[in-house]
Amino acid sequence: MKVAVFSTRSYDRQFLDLANKEVNSAHELEYFQTQLNPKTASLAKDFPCVCIFVNDIANAETLEILAAQGTKLIALRCAGYNMIDVPVANNLGLKVVRVPAYSPYAVAEHAVGLILMLNRKLNKAYNRVRDDNFTLDGLLGFDLHKSTVGVIGTGKIGTIFAQIMQGFGCNLLGYDVYPNENFKSIEGAKYVDLEELLGQSDIISLHCPLLPSTNHLINPKTIAQMKKGVMLINTSRGQLVDTRAVIDGIKTGQIGYVGLDVYEEEEELFFQDYSDEVIQDDTFQLLQSFQNVVITAHQAFFTKNALTSIAQTTIGNISSWEQGSELRNEVKVKVTN
Ligand code: NAD
Repeated sequence: MKVAVFSTRSYDRQFLDLANKEVNSAHELEYFQTQLNPKTASLAKDFPCVCIFVNDIANAETLEILAAQGTKLIALRCAGYNMIDVPVANNLGLKVVRVPAYSPYAVAEHAVGLILMLNRKLNKAYNRVRDDNFTLDGLLGFDLHKSTVGVIGTGKIGTIFAQIMQGFGCNLLGYDVYPNENFKSIEGAKYVDLEELLGQSDIISLHCPLLPSTNHLINPKTIAQMKKGVMLINTSRGQLVDTRAVIDGIKTGQIGYVGLDVYEEEEELFFQDYSDEVIQDDTFQLLQSFQNVVITAHQAFFTKNALTSIAQTTIGNISSWEQGSELRNEVKVKVTN
């Protein structure tokens, strides 16, 4: 089947080609580096399947163009589906499939990496030693052992993250609208309400999906409820955090450290090389100017294991649709996480 694959980089092509070779009837994958949006949707004319990633824009306008051009299936190469208007897709008769789980370890481990980077100031230490400066002033950290870690969203990634932090000897607090046994079974972990988690945690890590109810979950009010000097980690979705409120929190010292793998306006920036240009996003530039902020560009998922799994599930989803088999990874309007 002809598949128009948007937002592709060399690594996407490498892993998708490999997975495509493994199936009986290989698909015709046509790669586009550009993002899918209303302006680029015409590239997918006559492609029954369109394959997209986190920063593509599959809004009503894009979906109407795709449906009118003959697309029937949208295959997401990711778990989150906030970039697509699923009710509109379904109304237009478009099926939507996703990769519900690939390597939750990849994202959980990256969140831990951000914590260690911030806590022990490894970014500064690395540059300092390269500069032949072997002093320790300004590098003082704190033990993770016995610190309290709040996990917001205790699904696949949040639970693995909590297990790793338990290994450091942290006290674990969880908040989830659907508490689960996996998190409860971690030694010393307990569910509390959001207010208690915010007030008690030294480190808060976000692992819930972006939904209307979680948009700007971190805002002036919730920041004010946090412990002074808290560390905030977001490897989930940028819009969970009101960035301007976080900047204000950093300036007053209410927030002591920020580690981000995602950013509210990231679709304008991430996965592109702007090293020769002037970044126009003042909020992003201000955010990354702080010494106690570390930002990575949506790379938490980026391990060989995760890319292999994403490619295999995506090709499998497309094959299932082509063969008329059950779509186990279909996203339907009623799905709430
Ligand atoms: P999951 O569905 O297994 O877990 C999400 C959890 O959040 C569920 O337990 C759900 O009940 C909970 N939740 C839903 N609404 C909530 C709310 N209002 N408050 C608190 N908890 C709530 O998903 P997952 O696989 O663990 O992934 C979590 C998120 O990680 C994804 O939604 C995605 O946004 C993000 N993610 C990021 C990357 C990356 O590369 N940075 C990669 C994969 C996933």
